[in-house]
Amino acid sequence: MTDRERVGRALDLLDAIRPRLRACGAAANSDDLRVLLDEALDVMERLVADRYKRREATTHVHELIDTRNKWAHRKPLSGPDAVRAADTVSRLLSILALDTSSAEEMKSRLSQAERATRDASVAPSETACPCCESGTPFKRPRVCPECGHVFRGKGWDGIDAHWRAKHEQKLPYERFWRSLCPRHRS
Ligand SMILES: [Zn+2]
Ligand SMILES: [Zn+2]
Repeated sequence: MTDRERVGRALDLLDAIRPRLRACGAAANSDDLRVLLDEALDVMERLVADRYKRREATTHVHELIDTRNKWAHRKPLSGPDAVRAADTVSRLLSILALDTSSAEEMKSRLSQAERATRDASVAPSETACPCCESGTPFKRPRVCPECGHVFRGKGWDGIDAHWRAKHEQKLPYERFWRSLCPRHRS
């Protein structure tokens, strides 16, 4: 799952606020989260009675609008953005006295995923270049060092899917790719 997809999952948690919005007079039936969040701002007076909590809820809604816009416009989003989005939704649900358990569960799953990605990216590559090891030539076309599959064209087009489908068990794709020497990786 990409970080963008993770952010999308976190934002989907906002479905939980629909019944409350309807109870406050909003339609709350658009699939567009931007519409839903705008409606939340419209009915905020009725939605949250306490003015301090209301201010807090408004801040969360604005932040989620911003995240939703980045998501919709394919702006760069990171793993921490996804965790933050799940956390903000959870805080909003809590102010609205709604069940936060799914949001909390999502938040912990996303932070685990985020930690795993971060660990993978800082771990030193402990394997030598698999292409050098298997004696794969430097000249093109590119050949899978594991099974001899020949890639079309001049580069590694499709290696990602190929590796994940065939050799992921043996060596995770990211580690395989990182361990390639510059000449084989190009
Ligand atoms: Zn090599
Ligand atoms: Zn292969």
